Amino acid sequence: KHYGGISPEWPISYDELEPYYAQAERIYHVHGHGGEDPTEPRRTGGYPFPAVSHEPRIQQLSDDFARLGLKPLHTPLGIMLDEKNPWKSTCIRCNTCDGFPCLVNAKADAHICCVLPALQHPNVTLLTDTKVTRLETSASGREVTEVHVERNGTKEIYNGTIVIVSGGAINSAALLLRSANDKHPNGLANGSDVVGRHYMGHTNSVLMALSKCPNPTVFQKTLSVNDFYFKSPEWEFPMGHISFVGKLDGDTLKAGAPKVAPKWTLELMGKHSLDFWLTSEDLPDPNNRVTINRDGEIVLQYKPNNEEGHKRLIKKLESLMQQQTKCPIHGRECHEGLFARNLFLGQRIPLAGVAHQNGTIRFGNDPKTSALDRNCKAHELDNLYVVDASFFCSSGAVNPGLTIIANALRVGDHLLERMNVRRPEPEMTSVA
Ligand SMILES: Cc1cc2nc3c(=O)[nH]c(=O)nc-3n(C[C@H](O)[C@H](O)[C@H](O)COP(=O)(O)OP(=O)(O)OC[C@H]3O[C@@H](n4cnc5c(N)ncnc54)[C@H](O)[C@@H]3O)c2cc1C
Ligand code: SF4
Repeated sequence: KHYGGISPEWPISYDELEPYYAQAERIYHVHGHGGEDPTEPRRTGGYPFPAVSHEPRIQQLSDDFARLGLKPLHTPLGIMLDEKNPWKSTCIRCNTCDGFPCLVNAKADAHICCVLPALQHPNVTLLTDTKVTRLETSASGREVTEVHVERNGTKEIYNGTIVIVSGGAINSAALLLRSANDKHPNGLANGSDVVGRHYMGHTNSVLMALSKCPNPTVFQKTLSVNDFYFKSPEWEFPMGHISFVGKLDGDTLKAGAPKVAPKWTLELMGKHSLDFWLTSEDLPDPNNRVTINRDGEIVLQYKPNNEEGHKRLIKKLESLMQQQTKCPIHGRECHEGLFARNLFLGQRIPLAGVAHQNGTIRFGNDPKTSALDRNCKAHELDNLYVVDASFFCSSGAVNPGLTIIANALRVGDHLLERMNVRRPEPEMTSVA
């Protein structure tokens, strides 16, 4: 229960998803330290790789948080870093991890961990520069029979016994809405009228805590605080998750520049800031939705909700920073204030600012209130699945990637069963 309303329950339990989280952590080289996170649910095993160490400034902050009675944790991270054997490590712990592709292929992303290995199989084909424009169904409306695409300026049609849509929460919903036909007048699989609705994307802030001392950290995203994720002694409702973005500098600050602190330049602010990433849960509002306008363009309507928890989380961080004492030179006086970096210029969030999009084709047991069943198959079609962030019923307040991956692995097992195929043994990849 949140201050702003209810975060709805999912039709599957955490226990059903847990083995797939473990599998996802192995495939995606997740580093972490089990038992540190005060919100950690049951795990059947430890993290497959050890936690990524803090650099000195972040360790100092972690010590300060611990002294204040919090339980700071090492942020789980999917990078191919081997700190014990640095000469063998693919990851070189650089300062451009956040928002940039990795130039040494050490970021454990879908391209490296899944797409490239999948392409080693002779029966896998990847078509690039190919946009799916429409799905056609049989006359009964029960099966997708044709996948229409535009490829290098030409139109082509593909088909398959099972069709899986994975375009991301906005584009998958848009595709189903664009594929309306006589049997599915509101859009494919949309008898419930939920397709495109309940868009969620988290309430996020980037906050720069300026210190008198510089912050020379190279890889900053190693520390998180979840003490205010659920209720806390101060408030009975969830506030959210505190972690870090990659180290900001004068150049990155020029885009979405914060209010410049008195006597500081952007460059100087970048050198002295701890750059926090705060995430709070937004709730599924049916009016926050993806639609298609008369010109066939995607329109996203979004009104923020459940913001009180986020405001309190920002205040909480400010108060925690004011209580820092571990600086050996300035002690408590080291903290100079908290500054918001505008994520977006202007008030409205553009379509480009939807990194954590989810919830637009929700799954559930009741076809009246959900578009997908518990296996992410469309209730109204026999061979259509949607496997991406669209299926979320609620968004939580942490990055969504591992849950999207774990669910894809779960649906994959269901598909193997449906096709009567034996599940292959999972392959372990080595760090080096
Ligand atoms: C800069 C950035 C940083 C992030 N960092 C993190 C992080 O640290 N941790 C985390 O957990 N999450 C992170 N996220 C969020 C995470 O990347 C997403 O939640 C996740 O990738 C969503 O997965 P998805 O399968 O739903 O969609 P996507 O990963 O977006 O995949 C959809 C794919 O479908 C393709 N597509 C769309 N429409 C069509 C069409 N009509 N025809 C053909 N192809 C189509 C797209 O090109 C894309 O390749 C980050 C996101 C961004 C943008
Ligand atoms: S971008 Fe840098 S820190 Fe990130 S995985 Fe690659 S080498 Fe490692």
